[in-house]
Amino acid sequence: MRGLVWFRRDLRLHDQPALTAACQECDEVLPLFVFDEPLLQSREFGSACVNFMLGCLHELSTSLAGRGLVLQWRRGEPVEAVVQAARESKAEVVYWNRDYEPAAIERDRRVQLALAEQGIRTQTFTDHVVFETEEIRGATGDPLQRYSAYRARWWAKWQAAKPSPLASPKPKASTVVPSRSAPRPFPSPVELGYDRVVPWIDPGEREAQRRLQEFLGNAIHTYGDGRNRPGVDGSSRLSPHFRFGTLSVRTAVHEALAALAQGGRVSRADVLIWIDELVWREFFQQVLAAFPWVVAGPFRAVAVPPVREPGLERDRLFQAWCQGRTGFPIVDAGMRQLHQTGWMHNRVRMIVASFLIKDLRIDWQSGERYFMQQLLDADVGANNGNWQWCAGTGTDAMPGYRIFNPALQSKKFDREGLYIRAYVPELAKVTGKWIHEPHLMTPDEQDRAGCRIGVDYPAPLVDHAQARREYLDLGKQQVMR
Ligand SMILES: Cc1cc2nc3c(=O)[nH]c(=O)nc-3n(C[C@H](O)[C@H](O)[C@H](O)COP(=O)(O)OP(=O)(O)OC[C@H]3O[C@@H](n4cnc5c(N)ncnc54)[C@H](O)[C@@H]3O)c2cc1C
Repeated sequence: MRGLVWFRRDLRLHDQPALTAACQECDEVLPLFVFDEPLLQSREFGSACVNFMLGCLHELSTSLAGRGLVLQWRRGEPVEAVVQAARESKAEVVYWNRDYEPAAIERDRRVQLALAEQGIRTQTFTDHVVFETEEIRGATGDPLQRYSAYRARWWAKWQAAKPSPLASPKPKASTVVPSRSAPRPFPSPVELGYDRVVPWIDPGEREAQRRLQEFLGNAIHTYGDGRNRPGVDGSSRLSPHFRFGTLSVRTAVHEALAALAQGGRVSRADVLIWIDELVWREFFQQVLAAFPWVVAGPFRAVAVPPVREPGLERDRLFQAWCQGRTGFPIVDAGMRQLHQTGWMHNRVRMIVASFLIKDLRIDWQSGERYFMQQLLDADVGANNGNWQWCAGTGTDAMPGYRIFNPALQSKKFDREGLYIRAYVPELAKVTGKWIHEPHLMTPDEQDRAGCRIGVDYPAPLVDHAQARREYLDLGKQQVMR
């Protein structure tokens, strides 16, 4: 039997259910990747993400070649591309791992129908998450809307099932590669319509494994505190690997629990907090699948303060936020980290999101879209879920009255200003006393620091205390309506 394996966000060999099934059931296995032209044209993702994906594909192609398999690629509309590839290669079955984004669910449904019309079977697998939406339900059988309830059931299910990772598969026999499908070089980022950038986090399955082991041997054991400190390497930085599936979440949970079992300088509490973050990720995937309207609007219709009117002032504020020129050092450091690296620390993502929504009163969807275009780990589920959390419209929303004070957040989590100085060089010589609020320096102090406020570094875009009051007042008016 001949089987086509359609790779999507699962660019690895280890613990790869679709590839494993194909290798067990088929005599010939044909791996396929499709560059989704409408998605590329939509500019929903940016260069950082596309370059990372290409890096993963290069490594995957080499790893498959080592097993006698040739990764073919096509570029076009995915339904047409997959059906055509299956027909031309005379595949009897097409295998893939499931995706939970509403647009991907619809795409896969259309692929399935089109293949069925050609008499080609499909087999799909759980991979991007440990448990499917249907496997974790509330007492009434409905999908869960609160993380805490989801988390409790997720752990109970894990204890009962402990799903094991799969070994890297071995094809039954070497694939006969028809000459027409000889390996072609992948298109370059520029040919795909994007800039060429060197990903700040190295792509590929090997790097994901290396980084996982490094993290499990070190930072995970201080994760509870370290994850909040943007100036230190305190979190795993594996998010792009989970996004593109160069690391499987099953493997990550297993290995983290194995690190606990080894003893030594391990911290049970810290390891479990880290796994809980993987459960958050999974929770947001099930929110996407169960409540697909979240991609177009609020999860909950709650009364939130109205956003600023469209116009020049709104655009000026939004541009200053995007460019990291708000005059709030921690916000600017975060936005500049995003530009320079395609990644941003989680604590800072929360601060910049709160600032955009509550201090500047700009709609959260603008921030969500901008993040998708910049992030290396751009993921609809995690991005939408977190933006909605910050906006107060999500499942477990941050309460509307809770507004991050950027200066206090930065004093608490970047006390020495290490992170700020790394990304905002204008402030490099500002002393620890003023690094969080440089606009409070006297003219003499500004001269000594080589940083004139309003000239070398912007004055604050808004008065935080006043913006906070206005946001809360507007919120109260909404509730009274
Ligand atoms: C406004 C906003 C937007 C975000 N957009 C994205 C996004 O597009 N893609 C993305 O992967 N994460 C997103 N996050 C979540 C989080 O910031 C990143 O997952 C995390 O910073 C990645 O760093 P890490 O790999 O070191 O995470 P670690 O702290 O090591 O956590 C391990 C893994 O758990 C998952 N995870 C951690 N925190 C969260 C969370 N809050 N929500 C969902 N999953 C989580 C990620 O897969 C992460 O790699 C967003 C957070 C905010 C506040």
